Amino acid sequence: MLLKGRAEKIESDGMVVRSPTVTIRLPTVIRLMKYIKRSYQVRISFSKKNVLKRDNFTCQYCGTMDGNLTIDHVIPKSRGGESCWENVVVACQKCNIKKGDQTLKEAGIRLLRRPARPSFLFHKNIYHSAPKSFVKNWSKYFPNDVIRA
Ligand SMILES: [Zn+2]
Repeated sequence: MLLKGRAEKIESDGMVVRSPTVTIRLPTVIRLMKYIKRSYQVRISFSKKNVLKRDNFTCQYCGTMDGNLTIDHVIPKSRGGESCWENVVVACQKCNIKKGDQTLKEAGIRLLRRPARPSFLFHKNIYHSAPKSFVKNWSKYFPNDVIRA
């Protein structure tokens, strides 16, 4: 894309590739010269795995990433709460037990973020498998809750 002028280099970490005739500084961030609009909406399937990804493997009540993470119905199932993106969050076992069959108000706890259907899920593994210099460069382009450096 860079060679064909379809993208420009925004950042690089200094890594270089050389051929007999060309030397290219490898980019870590590029900008597309033309916005590519997707003609279809990707529908992310509702699953425990995807709820964990949406909530960044973080309890939505206390913010911990430790311990056994569970899936909690904000409005309990016993109160008619549905199993859907808007009513399900990641909760640590401690918070899940504390909340039990109560509403947020009854339990006296708050959500860190209102749950919603995600339009995009970023795979955490990309960060773990990428060189540290890439992650450092990418971090300023994502919201704080996406990357934990
Ligand atoms: Zn918790």
